[in-house]
Amino acid sequence: MNSKNTFSWKYEACSSEVDSQEIVNNAKNNAAKINLLNFASDDLEKFFLDLGEKSFRAPQVIKWMHQVGISDFAMMSNLSLVLRQYLAEHCEIKAPKIAKEQVASDGTRKWLLQLEDDNFIETVFIPEDSRGTLCVSSQVGCPLGCDFCATGAMGFKRNLTVAEIIGQLWLAVRQLSPDKTTRTHVVTNVVFMGMGEPLLNYDNVLGATKLMFDDNAYGLSKLKVTVSTSGLIPEMLLLKEQSEVSLAVSLHAPTDELRSRLMPINKKYPLKELITVCDDYFKDQRRYVTIEYIMLDGINDQAAHAKQLVKLLSHGRYKVNLIPGNVVAHSSLKPSSSANIDIFRQILLDAGINTITRKSRGWEISAACGQLVGADNA
Ligand code: SAH
Ligand code: SF4
Repeated sequence: MNSKNTFSWKYEACSSEVDSQEIVNNAKNNAAKINLLNFASDDLEKFFLDLGEKSFRAPQVIKWMHQVGISDFAMMSNLSLVLRQYLAEHCEIKAPKIAKEQVASDGTRKWLLQLEDDNFIETVFIPEDSRGTLCVSSQVGCPLGCDFCATGAMGFKRNLTVAEIIGQLWLAVRQLSPDKTTRTHVVTNVVFMGMGEPLLNYDNVLGATKLMFDDNAYGLSKLKVTVSTSGLIPEMLLLKEQSEVSLAVSLHAPTDELRSRLMPINKKYPLKELITVCDDYFKDQRRYVTIEYIMLDGINDQAAHAKQLVKLLSHGRYKVNLIPGNVVAHSSLKPSSSANIDIFRQILLDAGINTITRKSRGWEISAACGQLVGADNA
């Protein structure tokens, strides 16, 4: 966080005595104000302590930003006038801009969001009977180039900031709240299954999840925020130590030969090591790792693959989500037939593995898994 140096001075200084002219000039010349959406609770506490304020300012401001959803410091009525003025002068609360909103016939909404540097990302809201799931992006593009994924095909541009990640939830809550009549119109779950590989943007994803869990912000439970990864072992081990966020692993194949063909990252982190980490991940808690498995016609969807998968998953606690592959422009891979998906699923169920077939949502607005490219592609 850039607060460390820039703000180790008292904010009163800007109106009367100046501790460091250089710092004041920097703050004044700094075209980009400090975006407070970048701060989780611990960073914001440090920020206020550096200003000579009490640490309780952090939960106050977090409530205003995330629960009330305001971006105007003047409205933060429990802060002193001087502090409000200081914040208005040096800080901002800025989420990405909505460039386009599309709503599919099944209620799925997709927002195309414009970032400050004119990159675009996409966020998808999926309402269901008893919950509303927000699928957030963590990067502009993705460097990992999985064969079946449109985001991978666009290459990697950059990581998102904490503000750009939490800003997706901040915006969704504001957009959805006018109709907040049932739980299906609010965000109850967040999944990092939009654009990008979240564990390649580890610090910012972790910062954003802290705000998702924070009772002064969104207060979501650890079971309802899920990071999906293609299987980056070192970051998974770190995440296990540092966060209680739920974990989904994109497996998609039961053998190294096939997985490496579909997902180049498998050459770096092969299946045996990956499954060992997954087996241990929630060992001491009664929690499951979710395995995501795209069903691709004639590629990974045969009974023999299902039996290999059962064997692979026999040492841990797993839930399996079968994802009917979504067609993407650059790839010749085709979705499996529903008959093959049913046979595959039954083999897993017979082995005692909790398995569901994920419904494809938002297809007609290109909002389904793997179709997000941060452009108007519907
Ligand atoms: N990079 C992370 C998270 C983003 S991708 C990951 O790979 O897990 C989110 C999910 O969408 C992953 O399970 C991914 O494999 C899946 N996905 C990608 N392309 C898809 C496609 N064409 N059809 C169905 N699912 C796809
Ligand atoms: Fe990246 Fe995930 Fe797409 Fe693979 S599936 S290219 S890891 S976003």
